[in-house]
Amino acid sequence: MDGLTKVDSVKKVHHQRTCFLCRHKHDAAAMLRLVVDSDGEIWPDVLHKAPGRGSYLCMETGCLARLNDRSIARLKRHFPILKANKALLLQRFNAAFSLQAERSLSRLLITAALGRDAVMHRMWHHAPLLVIVTDQSGQALQRQMVDAVEKRRNDGKKVELWLDFDADMLAKVSKREKISVVAVRYCKDVMRLQQFSTWLDQVKEAG
Ligand SMILES: [Zn+2]
Repeated sequence: MDGLTKVDSVKKVHHQRTCFLCRHKHDAAAMLRLVVDSDGEIWPDVLHKAPGRGSYLCMETGCLARLNDRSIARLKRHFPILKANKALLLQRFNAAFSLQAERSLSRLLITAALGRDAVMHRMWHHAPLLVIVTDQSGQALQRQMVDAVEKRRNDGKKVELWLDFDADMLAKVSKREKISVVAVRYCKDVMRLQQFSTWLDQVKEAG
């Protein structure tokens, strides 16, 4: 057994938290932290930065589906003053995740290629790319992007493709109504955008 593996596994345990609903342990970074104010209102602490005690939710689909006023009330163990209201909590999740997703997207768009021609041109560059196609784009555009991405991959250039991205969010953040495809540099903001977009979808499903 080599020392490295040991150190890694110890480090991992330190960053794990228990979901207050399913009681399973997960990496804290992949979980949603919840805080409760003095009025008993529950708030999502998406950046894990709010002071004081927090509780964690794993955000897996099964766990979100289990969310109701009664299961939320389990937080009373740690927060005696608590207003458990599923609809309100999901509204707050939605607002917080939208804000984070929009912020990440807005940073990504600073250096992005916007629109089909610019995206096709950007495919020639070497830097790792994420191509985002909206859910309002036509099949012809989707097909074209799938082909272009496959070709780029065969050339040994790193590229990822998202189809069915929220068109309204892209229009809002890019301030362009008719945009259906963008290519962004692959960086940390991509992971954040992915996490918050996924959580937004899950919240919609749970609502
Ligand atoms: Zn859970």
